[in-house]
Amino acid sequence: MDFDLPAEAIELQKLCRDFAEKEIEPHAETWSEEERFPTDVFRKMGELDLTGLLIAQEYGGTDAGYLSYVAAMEVIGAADQSFAAAWNAHSTIASLPLAVFGSEEQKHRWLAPLARGENIGAFGLTEAAAGSDAAGIRTTARAESGGWLLNGSKMFITNPGTEISLGVTVLAVTGHNSDGTRRFGTFFVPTGTEGYTVGRPLRKIGWHAMDTRELVFSDCWIPDDHLIGEEGNGLRQVLDVLDGGRISVAALALSLAQQALELAVAHASQREQFGRSLSNFQAVQHKIADMATEVEAARALVYRAAWLADNHRPFGQAAAMAKLYASELANRAASAGVQIHGGYGYIRESKISRLYSDAKILEIGEGTNEIQRNVIARQLLRSQRR
Ligand SMILES: Cc1cc2nc3c(=O)[nH]c(=O)nc-3n(C[C@H](O)[C@H](O)[C@H](O)COP(=O)(O)OP(=O)(O)OC[C@H]3O[C@@H](n4cnc5c(N)ncnc54)[C@H](O)[C@@H]3O)c2cc1C
Repeated sequence: MDFDLPAEAIELQKLCRDFAEKEIEPHAETWSEEERFPTDVFRKMGELDLTGLLIAQEYGGTDAGYLSYVAAMEVIGAADQSFAAAWNAHSTIASLPLAVFGSEEQKHRWLAPLARGENIGAFGLTEAAAGSDAAGIRTTARAESGGWLLNGSKMFITNPGTEISLGVTVLAVTGHNSDGTRRFGTFFVPTGTEGYTVGRPLRKIGWHAMDTRELVFSDCWIPDDHLIGEEGNGLRQVLDVLDGGRISVAALALSLAQQALELAVAHASQREQFGRSLSNFQAVQHKIADMATEVEAARALVYRAAWLADNHRPFGQAAAMAKLYASELANRAASAGVQIHGGYGYIRESKISRLYSDAKILEIGEGTNEIQRNVIARQLLRSQRR
């Protein structure tokens, strides 16, 4: 066992810290108030080779691996959850389908500009009537004229409507097997394709700076070379990619909890009541002790899931556990952090208030925590069930 981060992960954290201090932290409150995603800052991140950490070098990435990615997420997520959430979706669920299942041509054409940060990526699975039940989607793709005709819509999609959005990877039903079960395909739909409409930005409780929209496909025709991987295998491909996404969301949640802890410690040390600093009161001390202990537990789960992924071991269950625990901790820690700040924690200008608003989605996105519990229980009980 070695609990030290590898040297390259420490270097990466340093690069991210310098970037976050200069380019993210000073502006995060403004982006949130204006509900605007800073594409120029995302592009600068690309210039520093930070937008393709999980992508091979030949396609514009740095192939840093999950451990380094998680270490970087701890820093970027602490600076601003909204910005980090957009970067999270771009780096994992938007890029990985192309990276893992795409053809050489698709990787050079679409993955490379995503990995270099010239463009940002989006991933469309969820629909108005199908969220947790991914296999229940209704968007269809019918083979026609040497390509595919898409019809349907997607809901709550991250990153599709910025001026640098390259397109969206969507899951669609392609037909039926002889036994009546449905077949699925994954497709890349470039921004601007006829029949592909990006809806207005959705206004949210938190993650204000992140772009979230509904997408509509209305007789949207794309050529056959826009099919990613194998027709018939789309659902499996998407579910595989979501496992990696969960490690990333878990790291985002960990960064939120760590940041809430640091803000709580700082406020408790500086704020005085009854002639002494809050840090003298045992009720405050215990909240801080619980937060710190749980942050360490979450970190262990997150880094273990990342290590398993990097070492090509099965990591689905570990990723689900990390996402479940870290996201629920993020909510507890944000709430305790606001409590320690008192009224100041409820004012929008305070960073802790932003963390409180940003925490809830972590229990919902990329598979709700009920679904994480289902995944964990299914694996444990599979061999036992009669
Ligand atoms: C800000 C934001 C960004 C998002 N970004 C993306 C994106 O980029 N791409 C994308 O495809 N999706 C995205 N989503 C969608 C997100 O993944 C879904 O919201 C999530 O999977 C839940 O689906 P749902 O909202 O339809 O809820 P539902 O599936 O309707 O669930 C409602 C409730 O029922 C519970 N429930 C459902 N089924 C079960 C069950 N079998 N057992 C126990 N409980 C159950 C759920 O846990 C939940 O509590 C985003 C959502 C938000 C809010």
